[in-house]
Amino acid sequence: MLEIQQLKVFHGPIEAVHGIDLTVAEGACVTLLGPNGAGKTSTLSAITGVARATGSLRLSGQDITRLSVEDRCKQGIAISPEGRRVFSNLTVRENLLMGAAGRRDKGGISKEIKGWFEQFPILGERRDQPAGTLSGGEQQMLAIARALMSRPRILLLDEPSLGLAPQITARIFDIIRKLKAEGITILLVEQNAAEAIGLSDYVYVLNNGLISSEGPAAQFGDGAALMDEITGVHR
Ligand code: ATP
Repeated sequence: MLEIQQLKVFHGPIEAVHGIDLTVAEGACVTLLGPNGAGKTSTLSAITGVARATGSLRLSGQDITRLSVEDRCKQGIAISPEGRRVFSNLTVRENLLMGAAGRRDKGGISKEIKGWFEQFPILGERRDQPAGTLSGGEQQMLAIARALMSRPRILLLDEPSLGLAPQITARIFDIIRKLKAEGITILLVEQNAAEAIGLSDYVYVLNNGLISSEGPAAQFGDGAALMDEITGVHR
């Protein structure tokens, strides 16, 4: 589904990612793990087209390297960004409509919004409330649902568990597990190694802008050793 080769990402004069290869197969959940500042968000920004990058990006075999952010979105890339970034002053329903901005099937959009309200009753109860008044966990659910409203081919999730209480984090990971079971292709950026490994097919570890290890998720066991690598703990 997504093939990245020799990706370098730049923020002005700073090279944040130094030439990485990464593949996400159709229907797979692939996790990119790594410590703060490793270049995870930069990688996602290069995929959405927000950050300046070199290298090659292919989506379903099509070269998207030179496409604008808008065209990549049209080609099926959607992101639930770090820090959730819902439109605070818009209602929950309006946020979902924004996610569907590129679609014209009004009937399908209404049906899907109804589906999300059934899946997340709390969002349904708050449909006319400004999204900024939701809790962190509720905003995360909304950010994921909003991204999916564009019916993407691949969903990018940037640290969905960041700053959430353990119980809420568990709920968010349940949601991701369910999306994967529905066949949605996911590239997940996380610091929570154990949870992420538990639901992933394949794992990449990013350190200082380079892939330091990669392999099928099962290879990383319960993620304890990886967590030590990420947090810099030496046993
Ligand atoms: P975190 O988990 O803290 O978000 P990350 O792995 O997502 O970390 P990035 O946010 O991609 O890491 O940052 C990688 C490097 O690029 C860091 O050194 C960071 O300071 C730098 N960087 C990121 N965004 C910018 C920017 N807009 N301008 C300048 N430097 C940036």
